[in-house]
Amino acid sequence: MNLADFETLQKILRSEGFSTKKSLGQNFLVDPTVCPAMAAAACDKNTGVLEIGPGAGVLTAELSDVAKRVVTIELDERLKPVLKKTLADKNNVEIIFGDAMKIDLAKLINEKFSDCDKVAVCANLPYYITSPIIMHLLESRLPIDNITVMVQKEAAQRLCAEVGSREAGAVTVAVNYYAKGEILFGVPSESFLPPPKVDSAVIKLSVRTSPEITLSDEKKFFSFVKACFAQRRKTLVNTVSSSMAVSKQLIKEALNASGLKETARSEELSMSELANVFEYIFKGEKNGN
Ligand code: SAM
Repeated sequence: MNLADFETLQKILRSEGFSTKKSLGQNFLVDPTVCPAMAAAACDKNTGVLEIGPGAGVLTAELSDVAKRVVTIELDERLKPVLKKTLADKNNVEIIFGDAMKIDLAKLINEKFSDCDKVAVCANLPYYITSPIIMHLLESRLPIDNITVMVQKEAAQRLCAEVGSREAGAVTVAVNYYAKGEILFGVPSESFLPPPKVDSAVIKLSVRTSPEITLSDEKKFFSFVKACFAQRRKTLVNTVSSSMAVSKQLIKEALNASGLKETARSEELSMSELANVFEYIFKGEKNGN
């Protein structure tokens, strides 16, 4: 059964009386080249793959052929009869019906993939929760090797931008802290049923074994980063002083100490420069000085 074929997929969905829901981000892949390329980038025969949102199972089937085992989480129980049909001969696939944001993924990985050399997350993500899912996966510090996912093109550019470039935002810094991102290839909207209004891209986030920078207080650093990028047209001094209770003078001193201009914008700072400025401003706070 060729699930990436438009007519085949449409026939299966119709025979089960299934119609896609926009609110669940249900745009199913109907491009025969995309799933093999995603599977090859994410896994090999010793990998356990966690998929989020199998839909009708087109990517799941491909992952099943390449990986050791696939566990896939689907929110929409209406897809049960569809998946029963499409994945009938895939013995290394387990489907869990539930919300990927609410399931204990650390426990699941531990239970399902203990005999795999590595674990990867691979998915054509529902776009309404792209960043929350990716941040949830990274912040939970799950033992995963990579996150290879389809996202909206603009999200791909933001998530994989270089920190210190115009495309960077708070989410770029957060992703970069935990992983190294790259855009693998673009996917036009015609590759989906129904076609979304936006183009897409597949990205690979290779999870770092340890963060790129050392921080005294991770949570506070990410609040600082959010403040840095809250008003993109302002200088770092102005945006941070107005969002956090910090004097302009102290922020200027921190920039000077890191060899940066007082007029610098947040998007001009590298990861280590952001960390240095942060540590200078908040030094001593943790031990109550
Ligand atoms: N993998 C399929 C494909 O490539 O054709 C379907 C991808 S579709 C973009 C996203 C899928 O995620 C849908 O099947 C949708 O029902 C499911 N989904 C949406 N929100 C979810 C959630 N919170 N947890 C798990 N699955 C979810």
